[in-house]
Formats: sequence, structure tokens, C-alpha cells
Amino acid sequence: MKYKHIFGPVPSRRLGISLGIDPIPFKTCTYNCVYCECGATTNLTTDRKEYIPGKDIIAELKDYLDRNPKLDYLTFSGSGEPTLNIGIGKIINFLKENYPQYKIAILTNGSLLYQKEVRDEIIKADLIMPSLDAVSGTIFKQINRAHRGLEIQTIISGLIEFRKIFKGKVWLEVFIAPGINDTEEELKLLRDTIIRIDPDHVQINSLDRPGTESWVKPINNISLKKVISYFKGLPVEIIANFESREKIASFDYNIEERIIATIRRRPCTAEDLSETLGIHINETNKYLQSLLERKKVESQNLERGIFFKIKIRES
Ligand code: SF4
Repeated sequence: MKYKHIFGPVPSRRLGISLGIDPIPFKTCTYNCVYCECGATTNLTTDRKEYIPGKDIIAELKDYLDRNPKLDYLTFSGSGEPTLNIGIGKIINFLKENYPQYKIAILTNGSLLYQKEVRDEIIKADLIMPSLDAVSGTIFKQINRAHRGLEIQTIISGLIEFRKIFKGKVWLEVFIAPGINDTEEELKLLRDTIIRIDPDHVQINSLDRPGTESWVKPINNISLKKVISYFKGLPVEIIANFESREKIASFDYNIEERIIATIRRRPCTAEDLSETLGIHINETNKYLQSLLERKKVESQNLERGIFFKIKIRES
């Protein structure tokens, strides 16, 4: 069976060996974050629909999971906001009833958790990883560029409400974009709000491969320490560089070699690679990140997007 909606398993720095489930068409999201590694959102929406029929996703999952693969997580993620798919609850129920040995994680921007039906649909997951990058309305607009129907205070209330009823783990991710949300004022607001949400972990993230907007820069270690000092006392964890990716069993050197062979012929965007090699965009991005970290490839921002090419070694 050729899989269209599941991908991997991908080696994930936070989740170990994770099988990705992408229930949303490419870049269909409630946000258009300046740092999104998948590029600009092409369908900015809050409409919940069965974008991809649940039965198609379930058929792929059944085909794959019946082979009893060794996995740490089944992870709803992808190139958009997974809770926009109205069938997500049905898929989670199917997995819990038929494959209870696997844990379920959901990577979400958390923007729809203010809706009771969304909270109810994902309640049986084991781990939710929502993001929260700003508390003040102005900074929220600058960094997340959300659909106009969304207000940050409503989103925060949804996160607090969900935490109260959810029995699993909540790992809140805060992306720091230097010059936007790392001011003293915003960091204090974030700290107070995180205390109200009460997550199990707070993961501080920053740019580690090119984002949608080329002016978003990675945070340096000194600034990162400053950020952490504002979050003192919170269960903070920095998402470390993923040096050990190759040590993870699911890291596939064939894929890496195919990526290198392709961009050796001509520079490509992540989307080009994904299409040419028939690998999901998220999986492609993971390998590109590893290659960037090991300085085997470099990126260049051009009109059509971010291109990757072989890094010429300086002599
Ligand atoms: S919420 Fe996630 S998928 Fe949507 S634009 Fe932001 S980073 Fe990209």
C-alpha cells in the first residue's frame, strides 16, 4: 500500500521513533507563523472539516500497524494544524481501541482548544504539545499571524481549560524569535501565563533551519540563557541540537543519500525533494535539518522559497 497520510517513522528528538499522521492538506493552518519550516500558509482558516477522510487515514494506519512495528509514538503532525480535521477524534478512538500498545501525541498550535468539541475529540491522547509564543495581542499578530477570527486570550483560556480535564502530559512549546517575543515585558507575560496553564514541560525552541521569513534569526546561547532566567522555577527544557539523530534506529541513510544525490545535481526546496523522492515533507525536513547541522548542506533564500544545496568546503 502506498501511504499518503502517514509518514516515517521519523527520528524525533523529543518523541524517539515516531510514526507521523498528517490529517491536513499541505499548509492548511489557523496560523501563518513567521518561523514555519514548511513555508507560508496557503489556506489560512479556522473551518473544521474532514479535509482528508478519516477512513483513508485509518486504512493506512491499519495496514502499517498490523505489522507490529516498534514505535514510541503515533504523532499527529504535518504541515498544518491537525485539529482542523473534524475526524481526528474518530481516528484517535480507532487507535486506542485497536492498538492500545502505542502512545498518541498531537503537535498542535492549540488555537482551537477553546472549542469544547475539539477538547473532547483529543482527550484520549497521551501527550499534547501545544505552542504558545506570545501573550500580548500585538506580538501574537506579529509572530503567529493568526486567522482574524482568533484572539490570543481566548486561545489561552482554551489551553487552561484543556489542562484541567486532560489526564495525559502537556509539553508546551515556546518559540523564541529574537527581537519579537524576547522583550522583558513579553517574557514576564509568558511566564505568568505558563504558570496558569500548568504544563508538565516547557520546551524553548528557536530557529534551527530556515523559516518562512528570512529575517527570523536563531537565538544565541546568551540570549537563550536570559530567556530561561525569566522562566526560572518552571519545568523548562531547551530543545537541544539533535546530534544523536543518526544513532536512532529509524534514521535511514538511504534517504539521506538520495537527498544528497538529488541536490548535488541541482539545488532544491524541501517541497521539490519531497515530491521527487516521494517522502513526506516533514520527513524530508528532518533529514535536511540533520544535514544542515552537520554542515553537509547549506540553504539559500530565493524567490521560489528556501533552496538547499551541497555545502562547498572552504579550503
Ligand atoms: S502553527 Fe505550525 S504549521 Fe501552522 S504556520 Fe505555525 S508553525 Fe506552521
